[in-house]
Amino acid sequence: MKGRFQMVDIKETVSIMDIDFLKVTKNELMKEMLLPALVNGERRFIVTANPEIVMKARQDASYRQAVQRADYTIADGIGIVKAADWKGEPLPERIAGYDVMRNLLQIAEEKGYSCFFLGAAEEVNERAVQEVKRLHPNLKIAGRHHGFFELKDDTVLEQVKTANPDMVFVALGLPRQENWIAKHLDQFEKGLFMGVGGSFDVLAGEVKRAPGIWIKLNLEWAYRALRQPARILRLMTVFHFMFLARFKK
Ligand code: UDP
Repeated sequence: MKGRFQMVDIKETVSIMDIDFLKVTKNELMKEMLLPALVNGERRFIVTANPEIVMKARQDASYRQAVQRADYTIADGIGIVKAADWKGEPLPERIAGYDVMRNLLQIAEEKGYSCFFLGAAEEVNERAVQEVKRLHPNLKIAGRHHGFFELKDDTVLEQVKTANPDMVFVALGLPRQENWIAKHLDQFEKGLFMGVGGSFDVLAGEVKRAPGIWIKLNLEWAYRALRQPARILRLMTVFHFMFLARFKK
């Protein structure tokens, strides 16, 4: 089984501010990379990076090192796709981390892979996992834990290790989620590890994703800012990223 999949696990990348983004579609990512890794019981770190992640990595060397440990970095933001266009090395599409997680949950239910849900406030985490169970009644839940613990507290790490999951969704926001994964990855033999930001809040119904038409028009970022005005300040980071990507090659 192993050999059959090994050849396809190499893809071209485009470097945006020292982060290497895979030139893949969501389908290619799922079929040619994540599925084979699951079948082979291998360990993978997936970063779904938006402009905020790239900017944070630019300013914070230890976070940059954490992000650079990813096996696969995908463009979760139209800003990244635009930056790649401006470099003359286009990416095929934006891949929303939330969609990758939902696809993985589907695969996990169908093929019997177990999932661990780490992050968000306790009641959000609980409701998110309940929603996952409703959507995927046959899914194996390896475990869950809220995201408000000290990064140096290894109790959570031990809980995840004991659960031995095939997929670990980490919703600790940036930079905590990538830092947590990068720090502990070596202690796992297998598993897809992925930072999923606010995805548990969406699953729990706390936060609504933009209607399809906004996503199609590449305006999901604007919808989020309108729904959660606290995010408007964060748009400044995105504009700064766009400025640098456009004018400071
Ligand atoms: N979060 C957490 N622990 C923390 C900080 C944040 O579990 O110490 C959770 C937070 O409750 C939310 C998720 O991380 O569910 C993502 O937060 P945010 O919306 O800031 O993430 P984004 O996707 O915008 O990076």
